[in-house]
Amino acid sequence: MVSMGSKLWCRAERLCRHMPVVLNTVLVFSITAEVSYLVLVEAPLEPSLKKSEWTSTWKTLHLLAQYFMLGNITWNAWLFLKTSPSIRGVFLGGEIVGQGWRYCYTCETHTPPRCSHCYDCNVCVLRRDHHCVFFGQCVGFRNYRFFLSCLFFMWSGLLYAVVMNAEVFIVILKEGVTFHSVMLLMVPWIMLVTGQVTAQAFAFAFIADTCVIGFLLVSAFLFFHIGLMLRGQTTREWYSSRRPYSLGTLANIRECLGEHWFLCWICPLIPSPLPGDGINFKLTGSLEPAQ
Ligand SMILES: [Zn+2]
Ligand SMILES: [Zn+2]
Repeated sequence: MVSMGSKLWCRAERLCRHMPVVLNTVLVFSITAEVSYLVLVEAPLEPSLKKSEWTSTWKTLHLLAQYFMLGNITWNAWLFLKTSPSIRGVFLGGEIVGQGWRYCYTCETHTPPRCSHCYDCNVCVLRRDHHCVFFGQCVGFRNYRFFLSCLFFMWSGLLYAVVMNAEVFIVILKEGVTFHSVMLLMVPWIMLVTGQVTAQAFAFAFIADTCVIGFLLVSAFLFFHIGLMLRGQTTREWYSSRRPYSLGTLANIRECLGEHWFLCWICPLIPSPLPGDGINFKLTGSLEPAQ
């Protein structure tokens, strides 16, 4: 009985851990399907504009742009998850223990500067930034590039989806700012459950809402992380107002994105070796928090 219970618990725990990734994947694919539908069937939505204004070349360009962004999001997310940022299998340098090194009692080893233990991943992570709850994985030295690229394409994809869905808002609100239209945009779930709207109207309103909220959230994340990259800081160092490893803007970008930083974000296939090893960092400032 005990083993049965613990097995069930393990399964439930694994399911919960993978839930955010599954939900994110469903949302990304649903949004892409919706904007593809808008381009192929509905564009332009306003009846006053003739459908012939969207030529097949223009529609193809739209679809190519959508699938380029979708491909980059899923590929970068996949590589982010596959690239472990932890100290497992990394030779940390034996007895050489210098400034900034610490001892991790859980991993039972000395860990290099900027490395810290993640209690969700249950391992120490090199140049740990934070544990990303949406992916269920830590952002660290080796997978920061994929994290940033994925975030960038999520942002550009959501910006595109918001612009495309602006027409959905316009069409709903053009019928008049009524209680019904406002409720449909604010709480589409309630309108669906109470039978006030069709499933199609709900789907459009729900995805349009998700795009706006998602865009605002991803914008905040993306610009925060671009700021950190330019400053050569991790989220942990930003919390404690320290910048002890900043090498100057260009070198900081190279530290995160690699030698081909100007190209590598376009496609995850472009190789971009990182200049450092994630263990040794050049100290350029004080390790003590700023006053
Ligand atoms: Zn540890
Ligand atoms: Zn973690």
